[in-house]
Amino acid sequence: MAQFIKFLFRSVLIAILFCALGCSTGGITGTVIQVTDGDSFHIAAEGKRYEVRLNGIDCPELDQAYGYEATAFAAEYLYQLVEFKIRDMDRYGRYIADVYKDGTWLNRELVEQGLAWHYKQYSDDQRLARSEEAARSAKLGLWAEEDPTPPWEWRRKGGNATRQTGDYPAPSPAFLQWATSNNSEVQNTAFICNSPGASAYHLNHMCRFLQNCSREIYWKTTEMAREKERTLCNYCRRNY
Ligand SMILES: [Zn+2]
Repeated sequence: MAQFIKFLFRSVLIAILFCALGCSTGGITGTVIQVTDGDSFHIAAEGKRYEVRLNGIDCPELDQAYGYEATAFAAEYLYQLVEFKIRDMDRYGRYIADVYKDGTWLNRELVEQGLAWHYKQYSDDQRLARSEEAARSAKLGLWAEEDPTPPWEWRRKGGNATRQTGDYPAPSPAFLQWATSNNSEVQNTAFICNSPGASAYHLNHMCRFLQNCSREIYWKTTEMAREKERTLCNYCRRNY
């Protein structure tokens, strides 16, 4: 009898352990509520806001080539229902996660499109390694560049030293086209005119006031624009 109780006890213990593991590796379903850049999101789930960094990949920074394109690609997931699996937490308290939507693994999708590097320092996932190899040989996205700098090296060197504080290079025509047609959905896209007198940010690249800009037009997130004390253009507020 004692043997049986011991057996029963052990079975229950194993079941509890199995469930605990099952729970921590199982996905969480939530809605993407902010796309900060290609590999950083905020996801609302279970009544809280998760700050998520994609696992195993690293997208180009916004002041690097293809930084905008990676962000634009990820922004397609804004307000979409996704499933994410938490793998770790980084030193900024962000959840390192794999994100899925309708069977698509976003982390790998970004690598496949040439919009992210496989982050080998933190991941030995062979699927990501193979996807990067394929994108490289097809010269997709950032691999079209002669000798692209990995984002981790770019950050270590402090980014583009010639850049004005908080300013970014002009987005590509492809990005502008995308942003113009999707701007009503992508609420964290802001366009600003790099003129000393300009104090507004715009929601649409086609805004008539932005069209008067005689200097370069930059793109940022609305959060960045507000941090730079830019205020929302009245025309954009009413029309977009
Ligand atoms: Zn405007």
